[in-house]
Amino acid sequence: MIKEISGVIIECVTGNIAEQPDITAVVNAANARLQPGGGVAGAIHRAAGPGLEEECRKYAPIEPGQAVITGGHNLPNRYVIHTLGPVYGVDKPEEKLLGDCYRNSLLLAEQQGIDSVAFPAISTGVFRYPLEKATEVAIRTVLEMLPGLKSVKKIRFVLFSDSDRLVYEAELSRLAGG
Ligand code: ADP
Repeated sequence: MIKEISGVIIECVTGNIAEQPDITAVVNAANARLQPGGGVAGAIHRAAGPGLEEECRKYAPIEPGQAVITGGHNLPNRYVIHTLGPVYGVDKPEEKLLGDCYRNSLLLAEQQGIDSVAFPAISTGVFRYPLEKATEVAIRTVLEMLPGLKSVKKIRFVLFSDSDRLVYEAELSRLAGG
């Protein structure tokens, strides 16, 4: 699904966040220590190579809702934005903290003059945030940010399965209309 809202292209695709060569900054669903780990962080660090882990050291640890930016190293992307999602039922208030991940990632992208950003479904894996609830926060937060964006012209949500993508598409239609 592709939509244009407030001059920004919003896309939902099924795929691997580490294989988005046409995007300037990919977002990592990081752990606090900014280490490789599994899921999204594993895929990003594997593709980026050891230079990413090395660069990350100076920023770790980060707090839930915080975001930091590094180079993309061997990824096809110029930047990686690392953000720590809340662990569902543990880090509270979880809706605000998850919203902060999307807000702070987009603010960093704006500061760097980045034109395109790809997000995974932050917190919905090992951190157990229910997908429907997390999707509502992700889409609502991004829609709220759109009128204030100057450099970011494309936002892509990269979902790991078609069923997750359908949840995103339904929520985007519900909150943005059409
Ligand atoms: P968190 O620790 O924030 O929950 P995870 O990496 O465990 O992060 O999972 C976040 C979401 O990303 C889950 O929905 C998971 O299915 C999905 N996911 C896992 N690997 C990838 C990948 N390579 N590309 C895109 N999405 C992925």
